[in-house]
This record gives sequence, C-alpha cells and structure tokens, in this order.
Amino acid sequence: MVIVMATGASDTDIADVVAHIDNHGGQAFVSRGVTRTIIGVVGTEDVLETMDADGLPGVAETMRITAPYKLVSAQNHARRSTVRVGGVPIGPDTFTFIAGPCAVETAEQTLESAWMAKRAGASLLRGGAYKPRTSPYAFQGLGVEGLRILAEVRDVVGLPIVTEVTDPNDVDTVAEYADMLQIGTRNMQNFGLLNAVGATGKPVMLKRGLTATYEEWLMAAEYIAQRGNLDIVLCERGVRSFEPSIRNMLDVSAIAMVQRLSHLPVIVDPSHAAGRRDLVVPLARAGIAAGADGVMVDVHPHPEAALCDGAQALFGDLLAELSQAVTIIPPLLGRTSAAHLAG
Ligand code: PEP
Ligand code: MN
Repeated sequence: MVIVMATGASDTDIADVVAHIDNHGGQAFVSRGVTRTIIGVVGTEDVLETMDADGLPGVAETMRITAPYKLVSAQNHARRSTVRVGGVPIGPDTFTFIAGPCAVETAEQTLESAWMAKRAGASLLRGGAYKPRTSPYAFQGLGVEGLRILAEVRDVVGLPIVTEVTDPNDVDTVAEYADMLQIGTRNMQNFGLLNAVGATGKPVMLKRGLTATYEEWLMAAEYIAQRGNLDIVLCERGVRSFEPSIRNMLDVSAIAMVQRLSHLPVIVDPSHAAGRRDLVVPLARAGIAAGADGVMVDVHPHPEAALCDGAQALFGDLLAELSQAVTIIPPLLGRTSAAHLAG
C-alpha cells in the first residue's frame, strides 16, 4: 500500500502516519520527492485491511498498488515526476542534455570536455572518477583525485556533475562532490550499493542492467526509493544482443514502456549503446523521438588518446549535429530545453 501525503503535509503529520502504521503492525518507508511525500506500507493482508489511514491529517490518498514496485510505480501518479539536479530539472516538461568525458583523466581534459559540453548546450556534466572496467588491467579511474577535478571544473564552467559510484564504501565520499550519483549498468542489482545511494538523499541516475527486464530495473529503483529517496532518473543504455557489430542494442521500446510503468524520468545514453561515434546521433534522435526526458553522451577533446571509450566520444561536427538535434526535436514534442531552466 502507498499513502500519498498532501503537498502541505507537515513533519508531524508524516510522523503521525508512520506511528499509525507501526501501531497496526506494518512497516513504513518514507520517501520525500520534490513535490510530495509518499509513504510505502508493507504488511500482511490483515494489517493492510485493518489500517485505515484515510482520515489522518495530511493524508491526500491511500492506495493499493498492484505492481511489485510500489514507490516508483506510475499507478496513481497523474503526472510523471521531475527530478532536480543542482537546480536542473529532468522530467516530462523539459529536455535535459548531459555530456562529458567517459572518464576523468586529467584536469585539462576534463575542463576542455566540460567547455565542449557547455558550448553544445549541455546543462549537466558527466564524467567517471571510478570506472567499472571489463578488464582489471584497463584504466580504473582517478578516484578521489578525479572527484576533486570534477568539483573544480564545476566551479569554473558552472555545470552540476553526474558521476558514477561503484562501491558502497565510496558512496559518502562521492556524494560529497557529486550533484547526482550514477549507478552503472554492471551494478544495477548491487543491492548494497543501491541502499547506500538511497540513504544519501542525492539524486541518482540508475542505468539499466545489461540484460535487465523492465521489472528488474524498476525493482532496483524501488530499493533506492525504499531508502527514502525518490529522486531517481532511469537511463536506458542498450542491452546485450546477438549482433556483434554494435556494442549494445538501444532498446527504444524501454523508454516508452518504462514511462508508462513508472513515474520516474527516463533518459537515454546512445554512446554506451552504440560504442561507436557514428551511430550516436541517430540513436539519440530515436531516443528523443520516443519521448526520453534527456540524453547523456560521451565527449572528448582528443578521442584518439582517450583512456576509456574513445571510439564513441563525440567532438567537432558530430557534437554539433547532436547539439542541433537536442535543440530542434524536443520543442516539437512540447518540451523546453533544460539548459535555459537551471537555477
Ligand atoms: C558510463 O556511463 O560511464 C558507463 C560506464 O556506462 P554503463 O554503466 O552504461 O556501461
Ligand atoms: Mn564509458
């Protein structure tokens, strides 16, 4: 069961509802979103039947949710949610462009990439300091030094930062620097990590697992939500397929479908889907047309020298083409560009 609190509900109202649930033998999970607080209730059929929360002060609605994911379900959400990252909205009314290097390599490379992103119209900067690499011999990221570089670049360029965390032990450190925490595809079901990022209260970008079903993806989001954090953005980044010439297969259906199953924003990462830069713009266009709430791409000033994913990094004409796509297509679909809405 889910209890939706009224927009003006006070902390006391919320505490009273939680106490009411406890007294009836249920368990309450409070999630605070930008516009409203939702309380998930877990308990036996008996508990849910006898616990009448409808008349309590501050309660707008109580509802039984039939989907296995309760807090992130679209059920009973008249509108999909908007998540704010350092003031930048990601949601159904806007279109958010996120760009940056796959990995933070040096201060100069990160700064140059950030200016490339900003000039192309991005309103958030991406960049990994902890890199989940297939090979243990590949560049693993600069760690805390990379986070410091990102924070410095944010101050200079003025773009809030999205960066990945791969280990529950690093979550607090990464959260000190980041505006949004990214959970990568390989960690989508790392439940300890999901619980840890949920507890920080920072916005989280949850990438879809390489072979995850929509339900598995949303159940992973539910872990974060259940820790009290509803500021979750889902990112479709391609799934494992039988075709060897592309790295992953961008699942355009996922964007449309998951927006029907969940109230959370859904963005698309065509770079990690394609694995090659010549496909990034066409896939980005497809994602935008399918209704994605934003796009995230890799850029690099010198891709031939990149320590990670250089083959898919945009620069020059292709970045200009993407910039044009994110400027032209979203307004045709009734969206405004988030680049102008920060703050
Ligand atoms: C990334 O965005 O840097 C990344 C590693 O992506 P994914 O987890 O989707 O492979
Ligand atoms: Mn990468």
